[in-house]
Amino acid sequence: MSEDFYEVLGVSRDADEDEIKDAYREKATEYHPDVSDDPNAEEKFKQVKKAKEVLTDDQKRQAYDQMGHDRFEQADKRGGFDGGPGGAGGAGGMGGGPFGGMGGGGNMGGGMGDIFEQFFGGGGGGQRGRNRPQKGQDLRTRLDITLEDAFEGVQKQVSVRRPETCEDCDGEGHPPGTDSNTCPECNGQGQVTQTQQTPLGRVQQTQTCRRCGGEGEIYAETCSSCGGDGTVQREATLSVEVPAGIRDGQTLQMEREGAPGANGGPNGDLLIEIAVEEHPDFERQGDDLHHNYAISFPQATFGDTVEVPTVDGSVEMDVPKGTQSGETFRLKGKGMPRLRRRGQGDLYVQVQVVTPTEMNDEQREALEAFAEAGGEDVNVEQGFFEKIRNSI
Ligand SMILES: [Zn+2]
Ligand SMILES: [Zn+2]
Repeated sequence: MSEDFYEVLGVSRDADEDEIKDAYREKATEYHPDVSDDPNAEEKFKQVKKAKEVLTDDQKRQAYDQMGHDRFEQADKRGGFDGGPGGAGGAGGMGGGPFGGMGGGGNMGGGMGDIFEQFFGGGGGGQRGRNRPQKGQDLRTRLDITLEDAFEGVQKQVSVRRPETCEDCDGEGHPPGTDSNTCPECNGQGQVTQTQQTPLGRVQQTQTCRRCGGEGEIYAETCSSCGGDGTVQREATLSVEVPAGIRDGQTLQMEREGAPGANGGPNGDLLIEIAVEEHPDFERQGDDLHHNYAISFPQATFGDTVEVPTVDGSVEMDVPKGTQSGETFRLKGKGMPRLRRRGQGDLYVQVQVVTPTEMNDEQREALEAFAEAGGEDVNVEQGFFEKIRNSI
């Protein structure tokens, strides 16, 4: 059912990260469920995302190459890859404090992740994964824009509170030059080894040392600015390019603008969820817009040319004679631009014929005459309009 990740993205097995990302962008655009006509778009989109996620993570890619697609997928389903030894957990795993290396992972207690460890150099010796680079955590924020913004495309500022490397200790978690002793728990290895029974037999399993957070050293002093985390929370303001045609609920990804990685690993990404405000004049459905337009009884009867609003101005529309209330007219190409594609959706104008609620004597007489001339049995004495109103 699932396919080889390299094939999914259409790249060679030795493609570098940039090639993979380019291919990802192309495929993700092609299969985005909001824009693709392919009935399997959603499934394909998921595969493309997964392929990119794995192939742009050095650790996962290495495991994938070694294990092959099927074994990797099985292993990944069982929760294998995040939080193995070395604590590829979540944000902020900067060593330093007593539990610093844990990040948000918490899956330290064994499972398949430990078995994979053996594929890339685990299984004894001291220099394994203790300072392995880890990608930082992805962060999320929300950005409100107007329909006009979504129509034109817009550059916006977003503020995000995110951990950044502590300047006072350079992310070390302790002041420069602090005395340190070898951690007695792990003898400076940064990891402790245990033997565990798993579905594939007995395996030696290593965990990041909790005492020293994988550093192998215990420091006499903790950085007071960051409390030993190596990171501090700061408000960052970033400029984001919102493309024309974006829809409510879609997410923009700003690469490397998330939380800092550990041990020289890359930053996580910033994911910006777009919220498009409701518009008083238009209702959006996909790339199409819907608008209600009121016309008078004579306009509906005789026909007219009217000016209807669009998001960026107005256009003329012909109302044919004999138009009924509720009829809808399509103005081709006057809807929203299509995201990262050429063309625009349509504008659907639903016409409402307004029944007069007040009129002067002249109008009243004319309308009575109109009814009479058509042979309508209207009891005008009693009040034609009252009667109509009462019957509603
Ligand atoms: Zn230790
Ligand atoms: Zn610090």
